[in-house]
Amino acid sequence: MDLTNAQSVQLKARAKINLTLDVLSRRPSGYHDVEMIMQQIDLYDLVTVTLISEKRIDLTCSDSFLPTDERNIAYKAAQAMMTRFNLEVGFEIQIEKNIPVAAGLAGGSTNAAAVIKGINQLCKLGLSTEEMQGIGFELGADVPFCFCEGAAIARGLGEILEPIKGFENAWMILVKPSFGVSTKDVYGGLELSEVNVHPDTHKMIEALKTQNRKDILSGLVNVLETVTLKLYPKVEEIKQTLMAFGAEGVLMSGSGPTVFAFYSSYEKAKKAHKKLKLQYSQCYLVATYNKQ
Ligand code: ATP
Repeated sequence: MDLTNAQSVQLKARAKINLTLDVLSRRPSGYHDVEMIMQQIDLYDLVTVTLISEKRIDLTCSDSFLPTDERNIAYKAAQAMMTRFNLEVGFEIQIEKNIPVAAGLAGGSTNAAAVIKGINQLCKLGLSTEEMQGIGFELGADVPFCFCEGAAIARGLGEILEPIKGFENAWMILVKPSFGVSTKDVYGGLELSEVNVHPDTHKMIEALKTQNRKDILSGLVNVLETVTLKLYPKVEEIKQTLMAFGAEGVLMSGSGPTVFAFYSSYEKAKKAHKKLKLQYSQCYLVATYNKQ
């Protein structure tokens, strides 16, 4: 539950995984048209936005490696809101970071979405979700999805969203290797003509409708694996390890390098997590998140 009073809002900024990720074409601008099924998970940063009378932005973050100035996307989100709505106030933003950084989990994007939502509430701007998504899209292609609760198909550059039924109560283990990857570099390295396996997005949507677990698990495909796994063989090694530890389906999220692995029950996932966390320092046991 988000805590709200007149001056301060605290929001859960949830991470996402990609159940499918397809790249359809490359635009002359260098950006790619995608088709992907995004699913929120119950791993979140806590973002507290406080209204202050002076016109400034003061950002603090529990992760001391992240910038706290205009290089932070949450800071940029506040700047964008202040400029667009001529706000004569300022904001203190506190981020308690739990989502791994540069991981393919939309950690920065979800912080930006939370700041936009927080400012909308605090300043009573009355913006619709679509309006907030429009502002968010100017900051990053994954930001619009972060306003959805649950799962959605994302098309275009990621901004054309259609909410769908998500994968319900599915337990997974996430493993983030010690390195991060640059989303830009991964997309830049993609040779579409060399991609042999594309996800069957339609089939995945149908499988989710009926929660057909077998089809969901066999439909997990991410075309960006063709790039990231080549650049970082460690990611393939993690996938193999997770399978060896009893996972039913394993995939890299986004541009990586985080890998998620679904387990048939919480108990099985917990047992595997106990062992895997001895091997990987960034290893999380989480469930999918869908609107209640
Ligand atoms: P996406 O899946 O949207 O591509 P990601 O999970 O791959 O995101 P992020 O965690 O958003 O990647 O980090 C990408 C870069 O953004 C990092 O290099 C980081 O320094 C920078 N960054 C700026 N602001 C933030 C923030 N609030 N949280 C995380 N990273 C941030």
